[in-house]
This record gives sequence, structure tokens and C-alpha cells, in this order.
Amino acid sequence: MPSTCAFCAIIRGEQKADFILQTDRLIAFLDHRPLFRGHTLLVPKQYVVLLSDLPADQVPDFFGTAQRLERGVEDGLGAAGSMILINNVVSQSVPHLHLHVIPRNVKDGLRFWLGPRQKYDAEHPADDYAQKIRAALPMP
Ligand SMILES: [Zn+2]
Repeated sequence: MPSTCAFCAIIRGEQKADFILQTDRLIAFLDHRPLFRGHTLLVPKQYVVLLSDLPADQVPDFFGTAQRLERGVEDGLGAAGSMILINNVVSQSVPHLHLHVIPRNVKDGLRFWLGPRQKYDAEHPADDYAQKIRAALPMP
């Protein structure tokens, strides 16, 4: 656990947070600068940076808990939906794996989140991209 990591400080109890849940391996709390109020972060207590760093035996618990948070955020706040995402490296403000559960409603004012979009074309064929990704997939 790096001494400078904001999430490790919360896990150690040195930093205050508004907790949603705590288990042996996981902690969930409100993002202190929410995109929308109720914006929740799910963090493994074990220090890992990337989703692909999370030990395989922790993956079902991590995503099972994400499903519970999805229901809690949407049902608890009366939100029509949610945005659930993990930033890896780019836009990852704290380099400790965390999954965002963000309440969403129609016309809630969030714009440009998934845009502007790019197109596949003759110069950039989709098949090239699919092939490169398939070739780099680790064995299951
Ligand atoms: Zn940390």
C-alpha cells in the first residue's frame, strides 16, 4: 500500500470517506467530487492499479459487488440508469483500481461523454483493429 495513495489512506482509516459498504476485500464510498451526487467508487483493498492486475479469484466478488452497487445507486436515488466504468491509466486520477457507479437520468446534462466518435474507413478498416486486438488477447 503506497503511503501517498488517497484510497489506501481511506482503507487504512486515515482519511475520512462516506462509506457505502466494506467487506474483507472491498470498500465502496462516495466520490468526493461527484459527476452526479451519489457517484460511488468501488475499490479493492489489495493495492492494484489495473483491472488486469486484479487477481482472478477476486474478479467475481468485485463485479458481483458492482452489480449490488448498480442496484443501490439506481434504486436508492431513483435514478433512471447509471454509467459504470473503469479508467485504466488515462483519466485514472488515483492509480489504484476503482470502478465508478454514476447515477444517470435522461437530460441530466452530461454531454460529449462518448464523443466525438471516430469512423472505420478504407484507411482504417475495422478488420485491422479487430485482428490486432484478437492477436494480443491473453489466454483465458
Ligand atoms: Zn491505494
